[in-house]
Amino acid sequence: MDIITKLADIFSTFPGIGKRQSKRFVYHLLLQDKKFIDNFIASVTELKKEIAVCAECQRFFVGRETEKHICTLCADSQRDTGALMLVEKDIDLENIEKSGAYKGKYFVLGGVVPILEENPEEKIRADALVKIVEKRKPKEIILALSANPEGENTALFVQKILASLQKKLDFTLSAFGRGLSTGTELEYSDADTIKNALVNRTK
Ligand SMILES: [Zn+2]
Repeated sequence: MDIITKLADIFSTFPGIGKRQSKRFVYHLLLQDKKFIDNFIASVTELKKEIAVCAECQRFFVGRETEKHICTLCADSQRDTGALMLVEKDIDLENIEKSGAYKGKYFVLGGVVPILEENPEEKIRADALVKIVEKRKPKEIILALSANPEGENTALFVQKILASLQKKLDFTLSAFGRGLSTGTELEYSDADTIKNALVNRTK
């Protein structure tokens, strides 16, 4: 395999990037000077060194932020520990934070459960979720998932794995209201849509 194809194959694994676009990235790199390439390589190398996964909410954060492997959101005592919001990915969390509508805690599931998935527990951080719920004992768990079939299937699976804990701890399980129109991905929702979805959440 030649080096152009090899690098293009790597780019084609990125979210939303097809074969043609991945080739364009490679040719773009070929047109850059050495300084750009050195900076690009150094940044990719640093990424894994500097970014850690939060031991509680599982989101990525700059590892030197706190000592105990906990991000600033989880360490912030001003936030409402009675509410735990479950999101699919880091970008969704960032988008909800930007809306300013929510002041509780988060948990990043790290994926969705596709319909007919045979091993759903491998698609999201099921064990870490159970642990954090047992530790925090929230009064309400809010499912903030995209309004599409995968989001709904993920919500069903989460309800299933939390069912026995819910009996024990008696928390409310709520879901983002359909202020999010069908097919909407949280990543692309604006602040007003997120606020409405939170206010109109169903319990
Ligand atoms: Zn955290």
